[in-house]
Parts: sequence; structure tokens; C-alpha cells
Amino acid sequence: MTIYGATLDDKVVDIKVDGCVIESVTPAIESPRANDDDVDARGLSVFPGLMNMHSHAPMTLFRGLGDDQPLDVWLNKYIWPAEQKLTDELVYKGTLQACNEMLASGTTAFNDMYFRLPAMAQAVKESGIRARLGLNVFGDGDELDSLDEIMHQCTELGAPLSIAPHSVYTVTERGLRRSAEACKTMGLPMHIHMSETQKEVDDCLREHNCRPWEWLERLGILDMLGTNIIAAHCLHLSENEIRLIGDHHITCVHCPNSNLKLGSGYRFPMLELIDAGANMMLGTDGSASSNNLDMIEVMKTAALLQKGWRGDPTVVPAHQILSIATGGHTIAPGQPACLFLTTAKNTSDLVYATHGESVVMTMVGGKIVYKKQQ
Ligand SMILES: [Zn+2]
Repeated sequence: MTIYGATLDDKVVDIKVDGCVIESVTPAIESPRANDDDVDARGLSVFPGLMNMHSHAPMTLFRGLGDDQPLDVWLNKYIWPAEQKLTDELVYKGTLQACNEMLASGTTAFNDMYFRLPAMAQAVKESGIRARLGLNVFGDGDELDSLDEIMHQCTELGAPLSIAPHSVYTVTERGLRRSAEACKTMGLPMHIHMSETQKEVDDCLREHNCRPWEWLERLGILDMLGTNIIAAHCLHLSENEIRLIGDHHITCVHCPNSNLKLGSGYRFPMLELIDAGANMMLGTDGSASSNNLDMIEVMKTAALLQKGWRGDPTVVPAHQILSIATGGHTIAPGQPACLFLTTAKNTSDLVYATHGESVVMTMVGGKIVYKKQQ
């Protein structure tokens, strides 16, 4: 299959896709003789697929629930009671809605954290998006008792897993240790919320006499898992914690829209974390805290926040935030054929002037899984 006439970095190119990878990117030929399965991309730009590295897909069901509340009130009074009422059927429907919204806004892969994972995996499979599903763990980690069975069902549906202890304030020392050991034994990443609010830091200091990242270090989890930790938020960090994150090359997922809406903070130390050695990525968080799953909007908010709180418009230019949002993927031979076509003219236009609705086609692993209705 060839995607012909697409604009890539101000050049017009033909992109040949072989199976699930990009085979070649060549200057566009003038009068293409298109095959039936070729894609006419003339007048459109092509970008690598966006990766939403922190989400709770089924929360599309809770969009608008408990708007404008602090995190602890929002969780305790609104979200957790509502989640008690979920069924497999609802989780499947909420996930399918999320997958379709992500595909329609250029996201080709997401990294999630929730429960009822086989129902989620079914929706992921039907939508054609790629996803890693995190088994949410609370308290002492009783959820891990069914890990083998859940893993078996999700593997059959093609969805890889992670283990997702919710946070240091909702998971006990035993639960954190069990999660880390299961990650090590099964070779799975750990996905966790970290340092999201000042309250989380204050409570950790009171309870354990150290900050959240120092707590994980004391439990031996940083040395045990290191680069296999994906941490959402990482907003309230000391210099020592930034050093710990950098030394262990942990993946930090910045979710600016969720942090702003929940009033959690805005001085995200993106440049300090990158300089220290962290792997930087972006996410939306669930639709109940960011209200959409639009990674194009996330790129803009993330870039503007860095410029704003530092008082420096030169930091985090458009091409850098795009690279962070795509996990460093590019449109080049050998890269996965995960990409999207948009009416945005170039990277500046994509990041600063458009949003998810500018996407007209999304391809995952060489298959067209979204096409905008004309
Ligand atoms: Zn979250």
C-alpha cells in the first residue's frame, strides 16, 4: 500500500507501507497510478501516531462527573462509588468509546490503568488500536491473586499487561512489594500515579518520614524495576527525587490537562527530569479528569505550561513536544506504520493551531482503522 502525496516536514512524499512497517519514504511522483488500496493524501500532512501513555479508558462513562472538585473529594465522593457499579459490559462500552475517540484524534497506542481488563481487551481488539492494560492494585494487592487468569484472557485477545499499583497513598507497603515482585517475575512494567499533589507528598512524609520516590527507593522498587516503571504526573518533586527518577531512567508521563483541571499544580519540571535522564512522555489521564482524550490538545497545553511558568517562550518548541508525544517515532523506513493524516499544514500548525478534529485518517500497524466521514 502507498500513501501518496502527503506533506512531511514541508516536503511532498510517497510512503510505501509493507505489512506493519514503513518500507520507504520517497519524493512524490507527479501523476501517481494508484492501486485500489492506496491512500490519496494530497493536501494533507502525515505525522507519526501519538502515544497516550496514561489513561483510564472506561472513564469516558464518567465524563463530567464531579467536575471542579479537588482530587481527594473527586475520587472519594464521585469516582470510586461510581466505579463500584461498573460491569464488564459497561467497561467494554466505555473502552470502545475511548479507543474510537483516540483513533479519531491521531492516537495509535495507549497505556492504561483500570480493572475488568479482559472486557477492555475485547474493545481494544475490535477498535484496532494498540494498548497496554494495567491491572489496578489497591491496598495489599489482592487483585494480584487473579493475575495469571487475567493475563491468559488478555493475551488471547492480543493485549499486553502491566501491573498498576494505584499510588503510594492507596497501596500498602505489602501491596507495593507484591506488585513489584510480580512485575519482576512476569517481566511486566509497573504503571503508577506518583507525586500528583502536594497532599500526597505531605501524607507520605508524615507516614513514612520520606517523600514518595524516596519511599519506593527504600522498598527497593527503583533498583528492582528501574526503566520498567511508568509514572504518571511526577509533579511535586524534590531535587533528590528528580535525581532518583533520572538515575533509574524512569518514564514520566506528564498529564497537564488533568493536573490543571484538578488544581494539582502546573510547575511540572519537564526540563529538569529530561536533563536528569528520565524518559519523558505525555498522557491525557481519564476522561473524567481531562474530559477528552485529545493528545493534540495535550501537546499544546504541555508546551505552553513550560513557557508560562518559566517565563521563557523558547523552551519546549513544537517539534520537541511532538517528539515526546510520539515516543520519538518518525515517518521513516523501518518505523512502525502507525501514523495519521491531518489538515494541519506542519508541526507548528498541528501543535499550536489545531486539535484532534483535524485528523482525517489513522493507521495502526499498516491497517487503516479510522477514516473521517466526508
Ligand atoms: Zn490517572
